[in-house]
Amino acid sequence: SLSERLGGIFDRLRGRGALTEIDVRAAMREVRVALLEADVALPVVKDFIEAATQRAIGAEVIKSVTPGQQVVKIVNDCLVELLSGGEDVPPLKINVTPPAVIMMVGLQGSGKTTSTAKLASWLGTRERKKVLMASLDVARPAAQEQLRVLGEQTEIATLPIIPGQTPVQIAERARQSARLQGFDVVLLDTAGRLGVDEALMAEMAAIAGATNPDEILLVVDSLTGQDAVNVAAAFKARVALTGVILTRMDGDARGGAALSMRSVTGTPIRFAGTGEKLDALEAFDANRVAGRILGMGDIVGLVEKAAANFEAEQAEKMAEKLAKGQFDMDDLRQQLGQMKKMGGLSGLAAMMPGMGAAKKAMDSGAINPKLLDRMEAIILSMTAKERAKPEILTAKRKIRIANGSGTTVQDVNKVLKMHQEMANAMKRLKKMGGIKGMMKMLS
Ligand code: GDP
Ligand code: MG
Repeated sequence: SLSERLGGIFDRLRGRGALTEIDVRAAMREVRVALLEADVALPVVKDFIEAATQRAIGAEVIKSVTPGQQVVKIVNDCLVELLSGGEDVPPLKINVTPPAVIMMVGLQGSGKTTSTAKLASWLGTRERKKVLMASLDVARPAAQEQLRVLGEQTEIATLPIIPGQTPVQIAERARQSARLQGFDVVLLDTAGRLGVDEALMAEMAAIAGATNPDEILLVVDSLTGQDAVNVAAAFKARVALTGVILTRMDGDARGGAALSMRSVTGTPIRFAGTGEKLDALEAFDANRVAGRILGMGDIVGLVEKAAANFEAEQAEKMAEKLAKGQFDMDDLRQQLGQMKKMGGLSGLAAMMPGMGAAKKAMDSGAINPKLLDRMEAIILSMTAKERAKPEILTAKRKIRIANGSGTTVQDVNKVLKMHQEMANAMKRLKKMGGIKGMMKMLS
């Protein structure tokens, strides 16, 4: 397994501080194989590996995990980002002047009709919407009847079938009926083809043009692997997709097709179909799918736990210092290092009174990583004695430190001021009963 292969590479590296380029590239060769086995398209794999490699080189290895495990966690985080676009899925646009129109598109057999009924049922029960479904599939004789039966099973209304109408005519009738009869949402189930062809695309464009849907959801069979990417690109070229539904996620596929969907369509993956039954529809969970693609969910969990433990340890050490009313320049440097690593503050540090202001400054861009580097350089230019007792810093010493760190006396004073503010905050904190007291107040 990938886990064993990575373990082999990294056994000899146990205990090192940061991931080196050679370590990372060795691990990524194995990750690459794992992704290809999960049926991720080759160009996607290439781009992904490069991005993940850049992120991993130089990353700190948390105490108590191996470098290989740390790489797996970083790869996992990159996968989640790719699957989710780094964003939360926005809600479906169903709260518009009724009826909201949702159009379902996709190849034949992808699961459009089933997903239409599943989504209608979801909107009916979870969102308490009054939903009308209409089948625009006039190509297959039994298609409209299939949706009518599913409507009966889910107790969702379906548009009465009138033979001889074109898809556009049915779509317009559906919207008209929905408006007159007070439906909140109308779902349009369209016809598919076995492959992408011009007739299908022209029909989809005509329906979309006539009904101006609020959502156009592409239904993709996750078992079709790399082919799904080409299908998605073809649909995106002709209709303004707003989301993706991946079906057959209950199957054997490792989910590699999912990886490209977010970036190819530029829209969120909203739902996963997980079975033939009509309640087998789930909100898409990028974390879970990433775990499945990589097949190493246990390791990711382990690293997350280790990271949480590590933070707790750090917090405890800090708490000990606080109890003594101490906060010296070395502590400040450690905090600055944390800030740089996390791109901000996390955990306990973020809750400390003095750090609140620092966090705000950092989030707003007033403190940038370069500035943090400079502050660190200043502290490093101090002697151990100066770091422990900054009050001994005379003007002459400050000039020496400024010269040593390539900064100005003004910069040195800024760092001293920041330290003083934080030390004061710590003293106030001590009066309130230390960390424990603060936690009590926060809880
Ligand atoms: P359409 O041609 O795109 O409308 O596809 P259908 O909705 O008719 O589905 C084709 C087949 O796929 C049916 O037998 C469905 O029961 C099945 N199907 C659809 N979605 C899923 C899913 O998420 N999981 C599984 N296992 N089967 C599904
Ligand atoms: Mg169908």
